[in-house]
Amino acid sequence: MNICFVASECEPLVKVGGLGDVVQSLAKELVNLGHQVSVILPFYKSIKAKNVQFITQHTLNLGGVYYDFHIYKTHLDNIDIFLIDQKTFFGREYVYGTPKGPYEDNYLRFAFFSLASLETLSHVCHTPDVIHIHDWHTALVAVYKDLYFKHLDEIATVLTIHNIAFQGIFPGYILPQIGIPWELFNPEDLEFYNQVNFLKGGIVHSDVITTVSKTHAKEIQTNMGFGLEGVLREKRYVFGILNGIDAESWNPATDKSLYQNYDINTFKAGKERNKMYVKELFGLETPHTRPLAAFIARLAKQKGLDLIEKAIDDAVKIGYDFIFLGSGDYYYQGKVLDMVKRNMGYVAARIEYNDILSRKLYAGADMFLMPSEYEPCGIGQMIAMRYGAIPIVHKTGGLADTVVDYHEDNEHGTGFSFEDYTYKDFLYTMARAMVVYQKKNIPEDNEWYNIVSNAMSQDFSWRRSVQEYIKIYKTAKLIKMH
Ligand code: ADP
Repeated sequence: MNICFVASECEPLVKVGGLGDVVQSLAKELVNLGHQVSVILPFYKSIKAKNVQFITQHTLNLGGVYYDFHIYKTHLDNIDIFLIDQKTFFGREYVYGTPKGPYEDNYLRFAFFSLASLETLSHVCHTPDVIHIHDWHTALVAVYKDLYFKHLDEIATVLTIHNIAFQGIFPGYILPQIGIPWELFNPEDLEFYNQVNFLKGGIVHSDVITTVSKTHAKEIQTNMGFGLEGVLREKRYVFGILNGIDAESWNPATDKSLYQNYDINTFKAGKERNKMYVKELFGLETPHTRPLAAFIARLAKQKGLDLIEKAIDDAVKIGYDFIFLGSGDYYYQGKVLDMVKRNMGYVAARIEYNDILSRKLYAGADMFLMPSEYEPCGIGQMIAMRYGAIPIVHKTGGLADTVVDYHEDNEHGTGFSFEDYTYKDFLYTMARAMVVYQKKNIPEDNEWYNIVSNAMSQDFSWRRSVQEYIKIYKTAKLIKMH
């Protein structure tokens, strides 16, 4: 098949969160199976691609304003990457906004990008079977396609919702600026409580909707759709497909960033060395018998930092050390730095986005904290398991689908999870994990090592999920034909 992804992130060119991982690794896996994949991306200022080739120049009319843009092409693992170069919109320091908040003209930036992608697709790409769009940033592709690109009518549209909390909601008056007629400003279409909702438009106009885990597919149609439950329930085709990770890139046996490589047979010594190394890097001089819990994520409310903040002083008292690696909201940066100050010597942090450091930390950590309020899929916990860092997670969305609580299933347990989103439940779960961890020093007690071994032997590669996507693409094509 020929699939065209339109997305706002694609690793390693640009990644803010899991979306970047998914676009790159799914595309790569499809190509490995012999499919043809192209990805259309904004040419952000931060993108440092090699062998970029100028293709053509275009002008488009968005709400009566003419915008010039250039299309460039590059390659990544046999994936064709098309870069839309428009300096006013994408020649900025950040992708979505500064730490103070999103860019105010994001509606124009991503409306422009969606329209420009369809122009690119019409003129430059070979006609694909399916256009696969991702999140609100590219949701308008489905809307513009129905409105203005009748010659692309036979191409099916699949929309994947990676994070339904972000919908691209803007005041109604912007509609003329993004070239969408007022007829679409109604509850059956883009209107949402008197505002414009890009994601809702994408849902209404796409042929198939997917989200990134089976549990989350149910959640978004019942209690966690952030207001879009009803619209989603009305769609006939809503599926949940668990994300995979790039198992080649995320492999502790070959990862060049690690102090010492290790695998499922050598993790005892390997993880110990990496732990000593990473603690030294972060200036923690505590006894190595204390478990090291890592947090690697966007600093945002969703990631459960409020729970961690309430639980951390007690967790340090019961014997935990912590390392935080994250960037994001100023408010949560402040909270993290405050936790460090309150627990000097036991808690360390770096406020930055740093892929290499994250790898060292996954390798050195005993536990990985992901007490997210909600989590559509979550990539962090899967990487953590592959690196033998045992996840402690809130049982929601993809976390519920990927982590088996040790006390619920002794034999197959891969981590620890809690149901109530309260700091007490979280702390209690950390205490449960601590009890098992401490027994690690008793000879003949293999409980902890069994959990690590279970976690490391999980297959979170795309092998299984990519087949499900192929089925979805075929379904979408069939729907289009009938
Ligand atoms: P989300 O997409 O909501 O941000 P995911 O768990 O799906 O969360 O994906 C997060 C990805 O971003 C993981 O690959 C994680 O390792 C990476 N990541 C998050 N924060 C950082 C950071 N500060 N430095 C390096 N990698 C990070």
